[in-house]
Amino acid sequence: MNQPRILFIQLPVQSHDYHYNFAHVPLASGVLASFLKQHLPDVDIVLPDALLTSSASTSTLINHILHFEPDIVAFGCYLWNIERSLFIARSLRQKGLRALMIAGGPEIHPDHHLLADPDCPFDMLVTGEGEDTLRQIVYAAISEKSDLKKGFFIKSTPVSPAEIPSPYLTGFLSPPLEGSLLIETSRGCPYHCAYCYYHHNVPRIAEFPIDRTVQEIMWARQHNVKEITFADPSFSSRRNLAKLLDVLSELNSDGFFSFSAELNAELCNEELARKLAQAGFKHVEVGLQSTNPATLRAIGRPVKLDAFVRGVKALRKYGISVMVDLIVGLPEETPESFAKAVDFCVTEDLADELSIYPLSILPGTELRNHAAKLGIVYDPVPPYYVRKTPWMDEEAIYQMFRYAEDITGIDYFPPEFPRLHPISGNPLLCVESLTTDDDVTRWCQTIMENPFLGQAVTFKLENEKWWLYQEELSRLLLNLLNRDPFILVSWIIPEETIANVPINMRLKLFETFLGHRSHYKDREWFSTSSSLKSSQVFVQISHQTGLSSTFLWVTPELLSGQHDELWFLTPRLGAAQGDDSSFPEKYILYRSTQLLGISHDVPYRVTFI
Ligand code: SF4
Repeated sequence: MNQPRILFIQLPVQSHDYHYNFAHVPLASGVLASFLKQHLPDVDIVLPDALLTSSASTSTLINHILHFEPDIVAFGCYLWNIERSLFIARSLRQKGLRALMIAGGPEIHPDHHLLADPDCPFDMLVTGEGEDTLRQIVYAAISEKSDLKKGFFIKSTPVSPAEIPSPYLTGFLSPPLEGSLLIETSRGCPYHCAYCYYHHNVPRIAEFPIDRTVQEIMWARQHNVKEITFADPSFSSRRNLAKLLDVLSELNSDGFFSFSAELNAELCNEELARKLAQAGFKHVEVGLQSTNPATLRAIGRPVKLDAFVRGVKALRKYGISVMVDLIVGLPEETPESFAKAVDFCVTEDLADELSIYPLSILPGTELRNHAAKLGIVYDPVPPYYVRKTPWMDEEAIYQMFRYAEDITGIDYFPPEFPRLHPISGNPLLCVESLTTDDDVTRWCQTIMENPFLGQAVTFKLENEKWWLYQEELSRLLLNLLNRDPFILVSWIIPEETIANVPINMRLKLFETFLGHRSHYKDREWFSTSSSLKSSQVFVQISHQTGLSSTFLWVTPELLSGQHDELWFLTPRLGAAQGDDSSFPEKYILYRSTQLLGISHDVPYRVTFI
């Protein structure tokens, strides 16, 4: 291989509204590309256009990768993209691409059933920090004389952060289209949480030079990026924190930036909170996870609750909003002890936002290694959600989310309102209307022939007779999912197009569009709304005034009677936040319950869009 062309792919968290896609920063790919370029300047490095990588459907991406004719493809693998990355790699092989395929990232671990498959399409799997290993691999490919062989689970050797150039300053990464810029100021974590693998991979804390952070922040200002999230796993554990905060304060003396990070609240005293606020920190996330001493012991997180409370209160006193995390399903955690943790956060007024996560039993972690002995049952596929423990069965886990929602008033499982307009300046198809003038068969064909599909598509069925073409539309969905099993699909059905269809047929039509498949987004089995998120159906109900519409979310749980709660999405027309005067509650409830053939007396939730 002369001077190989190496292509990096790091896929985003998918969302129907493209929010996560646009906020995606492929930081690991950018860092690896910068390091590689520094050592092997003649190598042709391709980081495909960020908008395309983060927003295109799988089939569009595959064609795009083939078009680049890479010699090496490097995948960044995370919980949310490992299956999609494997699908792409397999498809590239089937289409004859002979490139060397490398995978790295937190999901790469010997204890991973997807990678243990003899048909695994990757040639090399790199664990840990991959900079130096990737350099060796590419060097071996060029020189063809290195003894580095193809193989699995090549343990990478960390390099000093001082030797790693910034992906922003080298031009490999651009500002994100939405959301925060991600900046690493340190790597490594001193803690040993039993549910986490990061500290095995990166045990030592190593800081990037402060000067580099300064330059990255100045770069952000030049690009008018105001929100910066520090990607350090434990920002408060780095050395020279006070010095860094002084530097940040100086750089942000005009309050241009808003910073956020993950911290250990126990380490926050008044002085640190004041310094963080002075530097421009507006938001921090702190992990409490549990308040049960037996649980905290079992997961190796000794928490001093009084110090935690003091730390959080100090942060909030200085105007920093705090998100506190709790995990459902940890060892020794009973429904009573978990409810106590929720109550504790609420009564102590600890959080601006209380985040509740289900336990994930990640490959390589202590909890995974001891799960059988502990009696913990979990899903075999990412993100490996806990199913039951000796202390909580499935029903109890589900009820914990219900309990937290009741106490905090937060909806933990809202629908994602789909994107209803095209991406400006981008050819990706995200929304398509079936109008009265359309020939349905031809319309379906045109969608399947479109080479630029977005990762989420919305079909608006505005043709009043669409339901007569149920077969064609079902086939479209089937063909789409066969070709693009990771595509997200939303259907918008105007109420008037279906109101005159007999009720039984109407419910069957809704079901047609709610096909289950094995998608990462559909694995929240404990959801208090619906566990099906990859496919969504909304009935559009026009308000009496005709000026606006509300969207009723039709879920499989609702159709089967498993959940009896309706969920509406409605535009916020009032000027004030939280003004719901624009939502004609009685009218919408009446129309919706008529449509579903259920009693008018049902609970409901409203999300303003
Ligand atoms: S969960 Fe966070 S604090 Fe705990 S070991 Fe992992 S990175 Fe460190």
